[in-house]
Amino acid sequence: MSAARTSNAADTERVGGELAERLKPGDLVLVTGELGAGKTTLVRGAFRALGMSGPVVSPTFTIGRRYEGRDGVRLSHLDLYRLADLGAEDPGLLDDYLTPDAIAFIEWPAVALVELPEPTVRVAMCHAGGDERDISVEWDQ
Ligand code: ADP
Ligand code: MG
Repeated sequence: MSAARTSNAADTERVGGELAERLKPGDLVLVTGELGAGKTTLVRGAFRALGMSGPVVSPTFTIGRRYEGRDGVRLSHLDLYRLADLGAEDPGLLDDYLTPDAIAFIEWPAVALVELPEPTVRVAMCHAGGDERDISVEWDQ
């Protein structure tokens, strides 16, 4: 497990970028932390490092978005904040995003934990006063 403290969004993007360099298709990253902790910012940094050039915005009206990175790698970004209970939804809801050719990041994964495969990495973020954020990164062994 590694820990970092960042003091601006660019530093958090950099943490995401460093993490991304070790990921491969099929990998899953769970990102937890309160609203505004910087989860989407970290995902943005990761996707940039993976060669995605457009904007990364929070999925709002869907649970997720798919992008394409360098060398055709697929990138999935899910935000399950509004998904109160996955049991009430189509059980295949996540399948379109968690494909073997995609590197996937999920914000607010708690509601889906029982359905999700073992993640490659768990990232936990929290506010540490002002613009400071504490970020812990735990890799699966
Ligand atoms: P979340 O997805 O966790 O709700 P966002 O990444 O969407 O959070 O938003 C984080 C907000 O906090 C952004 O407006 C960002 O610019 C700001 N911010 C300030 N300091 C930091 C930091 N150290 N790391 C990440 N974001 C920061
Ligand atoms: Mg977010």
